[in-house]
Amino acid sequence: MSSVRRGISQTNFEGMENSYARAGVAAQQISDCLGLKNGYSFEIVLYPLVFQPIFKERIWGGREIERLFGKKLPLGGPIGESWEITDRAGDESMVVKEGGPLAGKSIRWLMENYSREMLGDAQAAAGGRFPILCKILDAREKLSLQVHPPANKAAEMGGEPKTEMWFIANAAPGAELYAGLKRGVTRMEFERKLADGAVAECFHRIPVRAGDTLFLPSGRVHAIGSGLVIFEIQQNSDTTYRLFDWNRVGTDGKPRELHATESLASMDFNDFEPKLVAETFSGDAKIKSRPLVRDRLFDIDQVEMKTGASHSLKPRKLQIAAVVSGQLKVRSQSFIMDLSAGQFCLIPAVLEQTELIAESDATMLWVKVN
Ligand SMILES: [Zn+2]
Repeated sequence: MSSVRRGISQTNFEGMENSYARAGVAAQQISDCLGLKNGYSFEIVLYPLVFQPIFKERIWGGREIERLFGKKLPLGGPIGESWEITDRAGDESMVVKEGGPLAGKSIRWLMENYSREMLGDAQAAAGGRFPILCKILDAREKLSLQVHPPANKAAEMGGEPKTEMWFIANAAPGAELYAGLKRGVTRMEFERKLADGAVAECFHRIPVRAGDTLFLPSGRVHAIGSGLVIFEIQQNSDTTYRLFDWNRVGTDGKPRELHATESLASMDFNDFEPKLVAETFSGDAKIKSRPLVRDRLFDIDQVEMKTGASHSLKPRKLQIAAVVSGQLKVRSQSFIMDLSAGQFCLIPAVLEQTELIAESDATMLWVKVN
């Protein structure tokens, strides 16, 4: 971690100033941003940011997030989710303590003070919140079947749309996802089976292994099966309608609350047997990639790097690099920081030149926020 401090103390601030100017930030904002207005020089600049994870206890969770990624989990109940980048009320990420001059600052503070430098041309979520939510999920048991409302239904039901992507980081043999409907299932049949507790028969099941990816637009009914560790990149929203909980009861012996009416109103009944993302890579022996998502909200690529390979990110674009396996270094001007598997690095849009260097063979998810 000493490399972090060394990297920051050598940061080339003049370069930063130029990049702010090129990003179209007004002179006053540049001086505010660089801390010039009170006679301090170069107090605050943005640079690649890693946040402290926020762990969530879930009855379906486990300890895989610690086993696979070395994250120190609290003792006690099973942990189902590690929220890696979140700007939700009550769940606001803080920059890690090894993370340079902004250590301990929250993403909320960054968005309140530097939203333009953070976002560039990306759109904030409702209330000026950071647009993306990033999580690692550890499902030892299957989750409930659920759906998020599409934009045209969300408003009338008082919720928010939510588009998401799942990248399978680790899968037990026989693990599967549930997404969309089996071909030919009608709404009438679906509703009848829902009332009979047999609706599970209607869902499309997809066997998965590590590296598989599924895109989940709002309106696509879905559930995570047991034995899966997943990197989830999603729209910053928290509206989930639970359709079916496998006839289970919660810790209190009662079934968990379901939202059948809202679910049925949100579901796309023409969404039959969606497919995993195609495994078509392009590149060379050192570095290859494949597109995972092309959406209005975000573009995501999987990047496979051999030791020593480097990958330049886009200039002046809000991006996130999520390390699935291996070790990377992130470098922007003279800022350098190590990234290990399970870490998500936010690259503010104001940065002109950021590069990822593979310290070992590595797999990364590269998110460009639109
Ligand atoms: Zn979901």
